[in-house]
Amino acid sequence: MLNSINTKNPGLFFFLKDYNPIINNSIKNNKWETIACPVCDNDSFSDLFVKREEPFVRCNNCSLVLINPRPEYEEIKKTYDNDYSRDYAKKDKTKLKRSLKRVNLVKRNFGSEGRWLDVGCSAGFVVKAASQCGFNAYGVDVEPWGINYGNTELGLNNLSVGLLENQAYPNEFFNVISLYDVIEHVPDLNTLAKELKRILAPNGVIDIVTPDIGHFRVTKPLSDWKEIKPSEHLYYFDKTTLNKLFSNHGLFITKKRFGLKASMKVCIQHII
Ligand SMILES: [Zn+2]
Repeated sequence: MLNSINTKNPGLFFFLKDYNPIINNSIKNNKWETIACPVCDNDSFSDLFVKREEPFVRCNNCSLVLINPRPEYEEIKKTYDNDYSRDYAKKDKTKLKRSLKRVNLVKRNFGSEGRWLDVGCSAGFVVKAASQCGFNAYGVDVEPWGINYGNTELGLNNLSVGLLENQAYPNEFFNVISLYDVIEHVPDLNTLAKELKRILAPNGVIDIVTPDIGHFRVTKPLSDWKEIKPSEHLYYFDKTTLNKLFSNHGLFITKKRFGLKASMKVCIQHII
């Protein structure tokens, strides 16, 4: 699982206690942070509901749904323990098969070749699949257990532990960058988007899968939707909000694939 946060420059992040009257006393004792909207920088939100003591709100300007305020990053990180990766690695064949399907789809649609980076690569099944499809494939994840598994069990050697922005990849290095079920977890979205823009080749493509709050199959009430996951899924994009986030950094959605599940599958490229 990727967690991208700029620890040297907390930027918009700051602590704010007693921010929201709907928070009960038990959460007031923990460390919380509130953020401006990562898509439009607005700081006015409407309350939607509270789930497991975490407040879900909607940006009054761009409509992004997010948890705000939210537990500090260090609290969130505790949820990404080894069990998460172990569960992930258990279903080897299924994961590899799905990864091959995703890689082949990008290859077919964009004629992509060269270097592939999987951000939030966990055990490295996408990296393995991209290698099998002829790419020089890399992976990065903040959680070391999955990387160790990828190295030892999948025989991969281009996996790195740490934050994407700390890897110092060269400019325009990757032809394809994938983020599968990752972006909704990332604490600092703008640092991530800026870095993706920098390392993406001029004709490169970013392939993203994330829950789609604009999908017709999102259940009502929204609080019952299975993707509503306190501390885990920090944001709930639709095509408009996701495109706005990336367009602030010179990237935009060029393709959206239809799916019966309430997840968004989009390709993103440089604005020319
Ligand atoms: Zn907004």
